[in-house]
Amino acid sequence: MRIETKCVQAGYQPENGQPRILPIYQSTTYKYDSAEHLGKLFDLTVPGHMYTRISNPTVEMVEEKIAALEGGVGAMLTSSGQAANLLAVLNIASAGDNIVCSSAIYGGTINLFAFTLKRLGIETRFFTPEATDEEISALIDGRTRLVFGETVANPALIVCDIGRLASIAHAHCVPLVIDNTFPTPVLCRPIEFGCDIVTHSTTKYMDGHASVVGGCIVDSGNFDWGKAGKYPELTEPDESYHGVVYTKSFGRAAYINKARAQLMRDFGCTPQPIAAFMLNLGLESLPVRIERHCQNAQAVAEYLEKHPKVSWVNYPGLASSPQHALAQKYLPKGVCGVVSFGVRGGREAAMKFMDSLKLAQIVVHVADARTSVLHPASTTHRQLTDEQLVDAGISADLVRLSVGIENIEDILEDLEQAFNKI
Ligand SMILES: *Cc1c(COP(=O)(O)O)cnc(C)c1O
Repeated sequence: MRIETKCVQAGYQPENGQPRILPIYQSTTYKYDSAEHLGKLFDLTVPGHMYTRISNPTVEMVEEKIAALEGGVGAMLTSSGQAANLLAVLNIASAGDNIVCSSAIYGGTINLFAFTLKRLGIETRFFTPEATDEEISALIDGRTRLVFGETVANPALIVCDIGRLASIAHAHCVPLVIDNTFPTPVLCRPIEFGCDIVTHSTTKYMDGHASVVGGCIVDSGNFDWGKAGKYPELTEPDESYHGVVYTKSFGRAAYINKARAQLMRDFGCTPQPIAAFMLNLGLESLPVRIERHCQNAQAVAEYLEKHPKVSWVNYPGLASSPQHALAQKYLPKGVCGVVSFGVRGGREAAMKFMDSLKLAQIVVHVADARTSVLHPASTTHRQLTDEQLVDAGISADLVRLSVGIENIEDILEDLEQAFNKI
């Protein structure tokens, strides 16, 4: 099946007489005929569900769909994108370890890594997108557990050179984790470029309607934990789980099964079945929406580039963008629907412009069907220092426009009338 077909068909296949549409199993618990069978479930020797904090049939079918979309061996939904990135790291990093991370990532992830993980004893070593291979390699040592990047950074729109990071990570026997939220697997599948673990905030384009917060981790199954020789949490008995050895019990799907059996069990950042159901509705129309988002964003970027009241435009789909070559390599079908730009006159003019928009509304969200607008420096990224802002590719005049799937003429007319007010 091609990606558009998988978005509709993968995950749930009803049998004779069963509901055509993915059912919502709104049940915390499951019934078993024998204590012995339940015991086997607890030992992870038979597949099945025991408690919805750990797994649920509705959730599982959406996990299977996303694993199929990304080309992985397994996936785990989480209650949010933050939870996905947290668990993706904690699954293989402990106090005393470090991770090596691109600075061009979502502000919430920077907070999580730079401050909260630090409190847990995990150090994050950031590198800028301009860093050379040698500079990135120099950050990696014996306690480095993973390299982390974001396919298209929210909101800086810097395109990650996934293949380059994969080579560097693998030369040091550590996996590459990529947050693929903005492109979604419709536009980019990081595993095809050597990425080992993919994370998502499904809250964005995957849900696509600004209805449900959620996240996902996908395991490529390609990283050889045994050969790397430094991931005992996967290759040696887990005392918290009757001595299970994840690489022995689950083979290529060791990482994702450990994340569920151990971390989801303990942290409980579980998605609700109804949330998985709604996410699935979004996934069904994802390729159609993404195509329109990209078309509209391209048209908006080209309009802004010619506008006298705009000082700069950042959209990797523009031929003038320094990101264009990387975008063509990793995102040939389109980048995403988000465009950022500077309004001439700086912060004040940008505020006036935003307040004058009628169709595009000011919200703390991107990547849904409605056109929306945000000023990151004073909102999503306000916790960052000036230096961190620069490293994340954000300036004080940056306006982030999330171009929706409305008629392009209506979007452009709205922008034009708002520019006329300044
Ligand atoms: C929004 C976002 C997150 C956080 O996801 P939530 O679902 O809001 O918790 C992580 N990474 C990226 C790239 C995002 O855009």
